[in-house]
Amino acid sequence: MQYFEWYLKPEDKLWQKVSQEAKELKKVGITDVWLPPAYKGSGGKYDAGYAVYDLYDLGEFNQKGSIETKYGTKDEYLQAIMDLHENDIKVYADIVLNHKIGADEAENVYASEEEYQNRNVDTTLPTKIKAWTIYNFPMRNNKYSDFKWNYKHFNGTDWDESGRKNGIFRFSGKHWDKSVDEENGNYDYLMGADIDFNNSEVVEELNKWGRWYLDFTRVDNFRLDAVKHIKSGFMADWIRNMKESRPNFLFSQKTALTAGRNVFPAPPERFSLKLRLVGKVYFHFHLRIGRDRVEQLFQERLTYHHRKHKVVQFIVLVYIGKETRYHHAETVTGNGPCSMLTAGTGTKVLSRHQNLSTVSGIVQNKVLVQRTVRMIAPIAE
Ligand code: CA
Repeated sequence: MQYFEWYLKPEDKLWQKVSQEAKELKKVGITDVWLPPAYKGSGGKYDAGYAVYDLYDLGEFNQKGSIETKYGTKDEYLQAIMDLHENDIKVYADIVLNHKIGADEAENVYASEEEYQNRNVDTTLPTKIKAWTIYNFPMRNNKYSDFKWNYKHFNGTDWDESGRKNGIFRFSGKHWDKSVDEENGNYDYLMGADIDFNNSEVVEELNKWGRWYLDFTRVDNFRLDAVKHIKSGFMADWIRNMKESRPNFLFSQKTALTAGRNVFPAPPERFSLKLRLVGKVYFHFHLRIGRDRVEQLFQERLTYHHRKHKVVQFIVLVYIGKETRYHHAETVTGNGPCSMLTAGTGTKVLSRHQNLSTVSGIVQNKVLVQRTVRMIAPIAE
């Protein structure tokens, strides 16, 4: 279950809520919970966690305007994980390694600007820009790691401070990695300061951080963010390293490598369907697509996999009663014990209903999933 959503507020105190509801989650059959990025983002306690500032700040240091992250403090996070574990629920941590945002200082660096639609094309010769690439974390004061980031650890950025100019700037002497998504010619660059996974210091530091994170938090698994923007060889090595450092680690590489960065569809793009399910439970599906593609997506994303009897992809966003928070289960495996994993291909199917136990039935019972898929009968709103 995805136990968070984009529009949570700091006052929702997610980590505390996890602790409070851990027992209830177990009661309704939840076995795995995906928690949001737990480290300090550039927006401090208003940051969902994907604009990573400091991977080591899990709500412990007064950085970016607060000690706590959007979800609470480091101690509350660790307590939440312990409470989930006490209830036999495994924890997926959301890992964001592609970029950093919110540097402490800017520095001069030579860079070429890239064509936005085709990042293989330079539109300028190397020019001096001022890039926000220095991360010293003065408030953390070397606790856990004394690694300091600078422009050498990044491939490029999107802002020239001296020219006050937005663009995609590739640093001189750096190249976009080839083993990434090919959208926009090369989709290595996504946002912020793009991390250079060919830099040995970076690789060493991120491996060190991963081991630290596993030991420090005792999470059971990872959901990897933005992997299509990251050099695949790095990701494979990193996953291997994490598995070696924790032999019982549950990590699903296949799943991770298909994981995307988009967590929720933007409301204006939603398309709604109503459908009736077993037991007179009404589901509400919102698709992030145009009306004309709905049936096709159901065929491809759900039924296709169902017929293959390999993986049933079923993405469920759950609204409970009138609460606006929602829980999210993604990708139910069809073989062996069913579990919730992440897919994040950009297409989301959301469901709305009043009964949490139904969700539990869906994620734990392959048969129910299949019935669900069969009974899809769109009724336009
Ligand atoms: Ca990248």
